[in-house]
Amino acid sequence: GRKFFVGGNWKLNGDKKSIAELANTLNNAKLNPDTEVVCGAPSIYLDYARSKLNPNIDVAAQNCYKVAKGAFTGEISPAMIKDCGVNWVILGHSERRHVFGESDELIGQKVAHALESGLGVIACIGEKLDEREAGITEKVVFEQTKFIADNVKDWSKVVLAYEPVWAIGTGKTASPQQAQEVHDKLRQWVKANVSEAVANSVRIIYGGSVTGGTCKELASQKDVDGFLVGGASLKPEFIDIINAKA
Ligand code: 13P
Repeated sequence: GRKFFVGGNWKLNGDKKSIAELANTLNNAKLNPDTEVVCGAPSIYLDYARSKLNPNIDVAAQNCYKVAKGAFTGEISPAMIKDCGVNWVILGHSERRHVFGESDELIGQKVAHALESGLGVIACIGEKLDEREAGITEKVVFEQTKFIADNVKDWSKVVLAYEPVWAIGTGKTASPQQAQEVHDKLRQWVKANVSEAVANSVRIIYGGSVTGGTCKELASQKDVDGFLVGGASLKPEFIDIINAKA
């Protein structure tokens, strides 16, 4: 079976005080031991978040660059992330794609370098509202997934996060049926283009307005292997989402 995976993406939020409080809440909560938990902290707080959270809770960076070091002002590398005791990075988030203009090519290069450096990668894909309405959801997410897959050798270190852009930060969660349909299609794509073994083992998680209220029914879908949570990952409600899988 695939281990349930719940990531929090704090985005550009928090300070030392709130991170210490959230860590305290999570450290003292009863978390399902069968769920893998990862908190995505702003890069400047990676070290601090790592120092505050219990070891059973992993930390992720929200982005990184495609090389280890050099004249790239403002960037951070997987080597630096690992040096902070952090084992994961989120790549290809829709905000990186659409606010900061990251291309599929760049995201692919980042995925390759992060994996070669020994980080686990939460690789994000998802269609915009106009693309869903135009009926090209599958085409869009398959294309994004191809750029990721072409750069992966070891799939055991990759989690695919399906995050429909129209559901991110909008309060409009995809229905369990909508999520399941795309997750199923993605798994079929992986089977056809990577291998059946990888299709069966890769975690495909859902993101987009997941809350304590919506998580249980989503988690009950066959191909939903966890969540990537934005807003609700900053609140005690994150515990309910971690424990969504009965
Ligand atoms: P929200 O849960 O705030 O909609 O954000 C989802 C997301 O973008 C997680 O990466």
